[in-house]
Amino acid sequence: MRVPAKINLQLAVGPVRGDGYHPLVTVFHAVSLFDEVTVRPATEMALAVTGEDAAAVPADRLNLAWRAARALAQAANVRDGAVGIEIRKRIPAAAGLAGGSADAAATLVACNEIWQVGLSQRDLAEIAADIGSDVPFSLVGGTAVGRGRGDELTPALASGEYHWALAFGRTGLSTANVYATCDRLRAARAKAMGQPLAAEPELSTELMTALRSGDPARVGPLLTNDLQPAALSLRPGLRRTLAAGREHGALGSIVSGSGPTCAFLARDAAHASDLAVALTSSGVCRTAARASGPVPGAMVVRNGRPS
Ligand code: ATP
Repeated sequence: MRVPAKINLQLAVGPVRGDGYHPLVTVFHAVSLFDEVTVRPATEMALAVTGEDAAAVPADRLNLAWRAARALAQAANVRDGAVGIEIRKRIPAAAGLAGGSADAAATLVACNEIWQVGLSQRDLAEIAADIGSDVPFSLVGGTAVGRGRGDELTPALASGEYHWALAFGRTGLSTANVYATCDRLRAARAKAMGQPLAAEPELSTELMTALRSGDPARVGPLLTNDLQPAALSLRPGLRRTLAAGREHGALGSIVSGSGPTCAFLARDAAHASDLAVALTSSGVCRTAARASGPVPGAMVVRNGRPS
C-alpha cells in the first residue's frame, strides 16, 4: 500500500465543546509524500516500523495501523483476524501531516482485500472515523472539505496541480498540546480584549474560488491555520522558518495542521525544488522536501505500480 501525507489549506477551529473536541472546518489536501505499508496474512498480530522517525512510532497495539486491523476484524466478524504489518515511514511522526492516520487507512484497505470482506468505501470510512478524525480523509485523498471533527468529508472542486516545499522540524509536536495551547491563548486574549473566545468555524469561500481557478498565486495568500499561533508559541523558531520561505518567494507559508511541519506553496515544480534547497541550507529546519498535490488516498501497489 502507498498512502500520502496531508496538509490543511484551511484549518478553522471553533470553541472547545463539552466533550473536549473542537468543531472544525478544514480543507485537506493530500501531497506526494508517502508511507509504504505492507500487510500479510499471519497467525498472530505483528508490526514493524522502519524509516523516518521509526523510533518515535509505537510498534505494538498502540500503532494506529494495528488498531485499524483489529477494528476491521471486529466490524466484519473476521475470526482470528491477524496480520503482519510492515510500515516504511517517510512521513515524519507527530509532524502535523497525519502520518499515523495514513498508515491506519492503508491497513483498512489492505485488510479489506486480504480477508475479502468486501466492505464498501462508506463502511471503511465509518470504521476509519472511529480510529481518528483524519483517517477517513487518508482513505480518499485529493482535496476535500472536512467538517465536524474533520471526518465529515465532501470533495472540494479544485483544479490544477500545486507544488509545495515541506520543512520538517527537529522534533514533533503533540496535537493535544497544540489544541490545549490554542484554548489557553484564546482564553487569555478574550480576557484581555473582552471578546468572545472563538467564532464557529466557517469555510473560506475565497479559498474555494481560488482552488477552482487552479492558480497558486491566488491560493497562496488565502492559506490559513487557526492552530498556527499555538504552534508558534510552543516552537518560536518556526517564525524564522516561515519567514525564510517568504523571503524565497513562497506564494503562501503556513504551519501544517498542528505542526511543526511548515508548508510553502511554490509557483511551479522548479520553484518548489529551489525552496526546499534554500530552506534546508538556511538551517531553519531539519530538512525540507518538495511534494505536489492533490494525490489519491491509500492505494494498493503491486510490483511497484498502483493497481
Ligand atoms: P495528526 O493526525 O493529529 O495531525 P500528526 O500528523 O501530528 O497527527 P502522527 O504522525 O499521526 O502525528 O503521530 C502522532 C502520534 O501517534 C505519534 O507521536 C505516535 O506516538 C502515534 N502513532 C501511532 N501510530 C502511528 C503511526 N503508524 N505512525 C506515526 N505515529 C503513530
